[in-house]
Amino acid sequence: MKIPAILYVEDEPKVAASVKQGLEENGFEVDLAPDGAVGSFLAGSKKYDLILLDVNLPHVSGYEVCRNVRVKDPSVPIIMLTAMQSIDNKISGFDAGADDYIVKPFEFRELLARVKVFLKRSTAGSGDPIDDVILRIADLELNTDDKTVTRQGQPISLTAKEFALLEYLLRRKGRVTSRAEISENVWDLNFDTGTNVVDVYINFLRKKIDKSFEVKLIHTKPGMGYFLKEL
Ligand code: CA
Repeated sequence: MKIPAILYVEDEPKVAASVKQGLEENGFEVDLAPDGAVGSFLAGSKKYDLILLDVNLPHVSGYEVCRNVRVKDPSVPIIMLTAMQSIDNKISGFDAGADDYIVKPFEFRELLARVKVFLKRSTAGSGDPIDDVILRIADLELNTDDKTVTRQGQPISLTAKEFALLEYLLRRKGRVTSRAEISENVWDLNFDTGTNVVDVYINFLRKKIDKSFEVKLIHTKPGMGYFLKEL
């Protein structure tokens, strides 16, 4: 089996060294970048399975690195590490294309657990039965094998988290799903309840899969949740 490669962008040498060592001890290959410029360069020159990105970096911020990476690679999971706890900062990270957040200071085993969830998700699906590989609603198709989404045959580029959310809703097509169920299954309970992260992501998905199409697929059941349906 291929060793998963992680890019880790962190400017604090002590934190960087201990996290790198911990990840390597758990069987990952880790490239360390001490600032955003090196991080962007490495992300553009090698294919990583996951990127860990500190927000507060000298010269080029973590958000900028995230945006740069997203232009080239819409699907690599990106987890941001931040000391800032407000939801505004979380949302600007999600806008930049991050898939998840870990608030500093964190415990290494928490970081390791999140990393494993993302890597498992991005390699899952290869043993699925064939009729499970392509999930469809109306003219939208999601391929769980090559992680692509099309609508009316046009490719739609989604981040890893947006893809996971769409896949989850597609598997529950037509059924109303509450925010709690969504955050439990798509965010693995790691998100504090009470944040509006599910709504934020539903809006991202709407912009990408519904906005420029006449038939809307994502619907809201007020007070109850969301569902996918061709109405
Ligand atoms: Ca920093």
